[in-house]
Amino acid sequence: MDITIKLKSGTSIPNDRLIIAGPCAVESYEQLLMIAKFIKSKGANVLRGGAYKPRTSPYSFQGMKEEGLEVFKSVKKEVGIPIVTELMDARDLDKIYDVADIIQIGSRNMHNFSLLTEVGKQDKPVLLKRGMSATIKEWINAAEYIAVEGNTNIIMCERGIRTYNDYTRNTLDLAAVPIIKKETGLPVIVDPSHGTGIKELVKPMSLASFAAGADGIMVEVHPEPEKALSDGPQSLTFDEFEDVVESLNK
Ligand code: PEP
Ligand code: MN
Repeated sequence: MDITIKLKSGTSIPNDRLIIAGPCAVESYEQLLMIAKFIKSKGANVLRGGAYKPRTSPYSFQGMKEEGLEVFKSVKKEVGIPIVTELMDARDLDKIYDVADIIQIGSRNMHNFSLLTEVGKQDKPVLLKRGMSATIKEWINAAEYIAVEGNTNIIMCERGIRTYNDYTRNTLDLAAVPIIKKETGLPVIVDPSHGTGIKELVKPMSLASFAAGADGIMVEVHPEPEKALSDGPQSLTFDEFEDVVESLNK
């Protein structure tokens, strides 16, 4: 299936294997530059990272916000890699639109219909993460909210759902991959980082995602996960990211 993601710049990401990688949150210019150069050199097509972070606690690091967007701008200019970052609030749309090639709607906002309507009215691709307690039908309806406004350039991202399993952060629902592909015809990617919350599970779940028919993966990468301002335990080191890509290449 052709899953070419058309970007506003006129370029596109022609790939049967989309690899999105980067830190959970933008933490500094130097760090994001280092990550971007590395992941690109290993074959990643898109750089991820949150400037605005939807944290469970209001006392946790909330992201670098506007400053983070400036960091993205500089890194993009320097490295030449498309960027995906999360839009949490419609009031920030213009600022995010200015730098992002793909606009991410996070799990917590999958049911935010006014936000979905707003991204449906603009012309950049939307990465729509599955709500952590969303059924497949609800997730498809969220995509419909975007599409009905005219934007059908949507990438669906399975990121795990909340179940009674308390061993992993979420329960990665890989059966959703072929279902969403069949029901919507949209590209489907998997985020095994948030899907499991455990870095050791990222490689096996990445392999399993492609086996299930996914068009890509989105993984968190950090030069020093133990020092990460968010999601360190699920972030891959550079060596571990390289190992994941190599195992996908085999
Ligand atoms: C993210 O990808 O940065 C993120 C916050 O994930 P989710 O919305 O799936 O929790
Ligand atoms: Mn994260």
